[in-house]
Amino acid sequence: MGKEILVAGGAGYVGSHTVMELIRAGHTPIVVDNLSTGHKKSVLDAIFYKCDLGDVAGLKKIFSRHNIDAVIHFGANCYVGESVVNPHKYFKNNVGNTLGLLEAMLDSDIKKIILSSTAATYGNPLKNPIDENHPQAPCNPYGLSKLFMEQIIDTYEKAYGIKHIYLRYFNAAGADPETRIGEDHYPETHIIPLLLQIALGIKKQFTIFGTDYDTNDGTCIRDYIHVMDLANAHVKAMNYLNEVKHSDVFNLGSSVGYSVKEIIERVEKITGKKIPTETSERREGDPSVLISSSDKVKKILGWQSQYSLDEIIESAWKWHKKYPKGFEDGK
Ligand code: UDP
Repeated sequence: MGKEILVAGGAGYVGSHTVMELIRAGHTPIVVDNLSTGHKKSVLDAIFYKCDLGDVAGLKKIFSRHNIDAVIHFGANCYVGESVVNPHKYFKNNVGNTLGLLEAMLDSDIKKIILSSTAATYGNPLKNPIDENHPQAPCNPYGLSKLFMEQIIDTYEKAYGIKHIYLRYFNAAGADPETRIGEDHYPETHIIPLLLQIALGIKKQFTIFGTDYDTNDGTCIRDYIHVMDLANAHVKAMNYLNEVKHSDVFNLGSSVGYSVKEIIERVEKITGKKIPTETSERREGDPSVLISSSDKVKKILGWQSQYSLDEIIESAWKWHKKYPKGFEDGK
């Protein structure tokens, strides 16, 4: 039996695109997802198990059926705003369930993990662009939960020899260029899919969270990265871990920042629709500017983003037009 890769949370947005990319690169992903936010329909051509990452007995059974070589871990809730009002959910699902996954890995003697981490672990940056050595001081429970996940896995390296790569993403967006899968969250809170839903007439108005930030136009600046670029980085990271066999951490972004107002303008241009907006207070937990330094990942993994912001929005727009109701499974 060839070696397989367990993809935890592989029915989610970044996970499902990575599964596609793993298959294209000749790997055999085995998807495990509890479908709490993921979509079964987004898993194309991979073996799928519905299982919670906290269900250690269930995971052990899956590990015993396969020849798993490494784990890629995407399983997490990812809404900054929700994490502020419901931190328990974030610590229970993101941190607690990671312990379940690690326990099953230890039991099956699996010693490699690629973790989906986030720029939110840096908190309010002291400088931009942010490199991997920037201090980690999350300003919301989502970022804190991801930092805990990293720190837990750090200790498992010392104690049990589990090697890791942490991939700290900036703002994931866009869809499969062949329009098979895309971004479908419920409720949707991310800027690009929200704007596209407004362009489609599904939602009425976009609320700009804060116009008094210390930026050119007063709105937050983010670094948007195509989901296919992220997917490709996971394959590269896994190959790297197999080769060099030592742990590392990489930021994944485009190193270019766009303000909320600039994103709205681009969406209006690409869709040809006017986006009605209103402004409100800042959203709690939002840093003003987050831009990635790509120097390290470029140098070591030979990775850099390939897709422009327009290509991100265009691919997402195509998917949203084709599937205005998303995967239509009510989530
Ligand atoms: N944003 C906004 N209105 C919305 C959703 C998002 O103004 O309804 C802003 C948000 O404040 C942030 C940027 O858009 O500056 C990206 O937010 P998103 O939720 O897409 O990603 P995050 O940065 O939280 O991961």
